[in-house]
Order: sequence, then structure tokens, then C-alpha cells
Amino acid sequence: MADYDFDFFVIGAGSGGTRASRIAAGHGARVGVAEERYLGGTCVNVGCVPKKLFVYASHFAEDFEDAEGFGWTVGERSHAWKKLIENKNTEIVRLNGIYERLIKGAGATLYDKRATLRDAHTIELRDPGQPNGPAEVVTADKILVAVGGWPVVPEFMGSEHVITSNEAFYLEDLPKRIVIVGGGYIAVEFAGIFAGLGSKVTQLYRSDLFLRGFDIDVRMVVAEEMVKKGVDLRFNSNVECVTKQADGSLLVDLDDAETIEADLVMYATGRAPKIDGLGLEAAGIETGANGAIKVDDHWHTSVENIFAIGDVTDRIQLTPIAIAEGHALADRLFNPSGRNVGYEYIPTAVFSQPPVGTVGYTEDEARAKFGAVDIYRSTFRPMKHTLSGREERTMMKMIVDRASDRVVGLHMVGLDAGEITQGFAVAMKAGATKADFDATIGIHPTAAEEFVTMREPVPEPEQAQAAE
Ligand code: NDP
Repeated sequence: MADYDFDFFVIGAGSGGTRASRIAAGHGARVGVAEERYLGGTCVNVGCVPKKLFVYASHFAEDFEDAEGFGWTVGERSHAWKKLIENKNTEIVRLNGIYERLIKGAGATLYDKRATLRDAHTIELRDPGQPNGPAEVVTADKILVAVGGWPVVPEFMGSEHVITSNEAFYLEDLPKRIVIVGGGYIAVEFAGIFAGLGSKVTQLYRSDLFLRGFDIDVRMVVAEEMVKKGVDLRFNSNVECVTKQADGSLLVDLDDAETIEADLVMYATGRAPKIDGLGLEAAGIETGANGAIKVDDHWHTSVENIFAIGDVTDRIQLTPIAIAEGHALADRLFNPSGRNVGYEYIPTAVFSQPPVGTVGYTEDEARAKFGAVDIYRSTFRPMKHTLSGREERTMMKMIVDRASDRVVGLHMVGLDAGEITQGFAVAMKAGATKADFDATIGIHPTAAEEFVTMREPVPEPEQAQAAE
């Protein structure tokens, strides 16, 4: 081991790589980190963080309207997109600095370089943008690939005219009319953001109902609420081609022969591992579908001393998962009594408007896994909207395994859904039963108390209907 420059070399200082390097350095390992783009990776720079700031920004439009029901007179409103971008950029620079201090403060050596594997223990470091430039060469006993993913746009006529979420964070101006393609987290979140900020939003999804993989009630309620907010939501709709007109606007031809005119077209059709030019073949690392690095249960790649975590493994593309994996791996390698990662009951939120919070099994998954389940569901107007007058509904749903009484699924669409779900996720992770929920006193008046006061399961025929 002493022959290597580093005990542990981390490629990619995003959420997972940063955590892994800090923890490993904390355990006394000699750690090197290479990051070619931005510290903090997707989440900090073009993901979770700026997205959430945009969600806040866009929600004010409704907040101003809602305030009137509470007696406020809100005057002239206008939104300065450039100011939002500027302030957001300042915050990101601050976070980049924090990441730098975290890595260096832990004692790791940080290279603002692009890393390429020459072999299983050798890494070439070059200035970003100079793939053939001179390389500094370092060696490491163990290597972690944590380079994340990148948005994918399918090839079609005019695909060069569309943007992805990466560019959406740096637009010069707010588009007056935007077409968003996709029906996953990013498409749904950005549809809400742009609609809230005043753009005319058309969202296209290729199948019957978006948010595939989420509980059926969540998917239906989010769709209904988005339509209420003015998003032109089109299911079973596909783009044939996009044409740029002389004035810069875009014509989007759909497969049903309709054409939509827009100022911007954004594709949010998934993200793929960003493995180009990493030298995976040189090191002998196997990849699977989509270029995902294949790993076993403990993040070993096909090469014994090389590991991969986070989005580059294309398993669960969530920041907290990459962080948990980075932490657990560093513990495993340098302090084996440390943490592991449990992949069941992972809570997640979609910052749609209204937002989604979810943990555990969907109704369909629970029926398939547990057989007999009881479904509890409540749909109501949140208290705030009794005075605001807004026609927004909250939906809360709980799925209980009848045999064990364990709460195996908890889903919500409504204000603060992410905040509420996080706490319940602890209980579910700990194996809480419906009886435990029932024995818990509610906090009144909150929406969250609904989860501890649900008494009657939904009658069977209705459950089946929802599951169809
Ligand atoms: P997703 O994989 O979630 O969704 C991709 C969407 O695009 C799906 O609706 C998919 O349809 C559709 N799609 C895929 N290919 C095509 C195509 N060729 N033509 C038309 N539609 C297509 O990806 P996202 O880009 O939304 O997000 C990437 C990941 O980032 C997410 O999976 C999530 O894990 C993570 N993320 C998490 C967030 C959070 O925690 N709040 C926020 C944002 C992202 P279909 O369903 O039919 O396959």
C-alpha cells in the first residue's frame, strides 16, 4: 500500500464522492479527489439545490394570491428572472466554497482536474477541456468512481434545439411559452416552476399517466392539481420534430398532427451515467445497460480495488443515496465497524406543486408483495385554503400489511409533503405498525396528524378501482 500516492482516490466531488472522501480522510486514509466541473456535483449546481430555490421562487405567485383571503392587500407584482438567477448563482458559489473547505478540511488533496483511469491503480489528471493535454499521474490503492449522470435527450429531427435541466438553470430570460417533455421528477418539477413564474407550460408525456413508479393515487392527484394550476398536460403525446423559426421561436410537431409554438423546449427524459472518457475499459471495469457501472452489494466494480457509487451505477438516482453509499463505503474500507445502507423504505419527494412525499411500497407493489393489504386514504382541502379560497386538495394514503399490521406504504400529495414524510419514514424504517400510528397523538391542527388518525380502510371495491 505504501507504494501508492494515495490510499483512496475519488473521481467526482458530487454528493457521494465528497462524503466518501471526507469520511475516508477522517479515518486516516490518504485521500485524493478529482473534480473537473463543479464541486457538489449535480445536486448543488444543477439539481436539488437550485431546483428547490426555483420552487420557492415560483410559489410566491400563489402565496400573494392566497394572502388576500387572510386580509392582506398585495400590490403590484412582478418577477425579475435575472435577479433570481443571480441570487441563485451567488448561493451556489457559496456552497461550492463549503464543499471545497469540507474536502480540504478533512485532509484530502483536491485536484480541479479531469481524471482518466490508465489502469486499475493509475489515474491521469488533466486540465478540464484538454483531453490530450499533459497529464499529471497519480497512483492509488483503492479508487472510487462517483462521477454521476448527465441528462439524456433522444435523437430526433430538431433535437439540437431543445434544452435540458442543465441549461434551464442558466436561462437568460424566462420563456413565455415552454414545452416540457417527460413525466418523471424533473419534468413535473419544472412544469410547476415555470407555470408558477408565469410561463405558459405544456407538458408532454408518452404514456397514459406520468410519474410511473409512484402510487396510482399520487399520480392521479398530481395530474389533477397541475391541470388546475394551468399546466397544459398531455398524455400519450410524442414529439415528431422541432423546427426553429426565423424569430427564434420553436414549432413542436406532435404525433397527433398538432403543432405547438413555444419559445423553449425542455427535455427531461432521464439521465445516464457520465462515463465518457473515464478510461473504464483501460481499467477493465464492466458496464451494463445505459453505461451504468456494474457493482455488487458493497459497491465493488468488476475490478477488485475499484468501487462505484451514486448515479453512475444508475440504481437509485437520489442524492441522499449517493451520500449514504459514499459514507458506508468509506467506513467499510477504512473503519469496518461503521455504517451500511438499507435500500428498503427510502423516502423521497417530488417538488411538484403541490409536492409529493412518499416512502415504502405503492398500492400495487404492496398487493404483489404482501397479498392482503388495507388502504387508508384521505382527501381534503388544507386548512390554509379554507380562507385562501384555493381549490387545492391534499391526498394522504397509507398502506398496511394486514398480516403483520406494519405500515408498508405512506404517500402524500399536498403542502409540505416532503417535510411530513421524512419524519414518518423513521417510524416506517423502524417497522411501525398501524397500531403504533394509532397510538401516536396527533399535532393539531396539522395535515400530518391525518396519518395518525386514519380509522377506516377504504372499502375493497374502491381499492381495486384505484389499483386499476
Ligand atoms: P426519470 O427517469 O424520473 O423520468 C424520465 C421521464 O422521461 C419518464 O417519464 C420517461 O417515461 C420519459 N422518457 C424517457 N425516455 C423518453 C423518450 N425517449 N421520449 C419521451 N419520454 C421519455 O428522469 P428525470 O430526468 O425526471 O430525473 C432523473 C432522475 O433524477 C430521477 O429518476 C430522480 O431519481 C432524480 N431526481 C430526483 C429529484 C428529487 O428527489 N426530488 C428531483 C429531480 C431528479 P416513462 O415513464 O414512460 O419511462
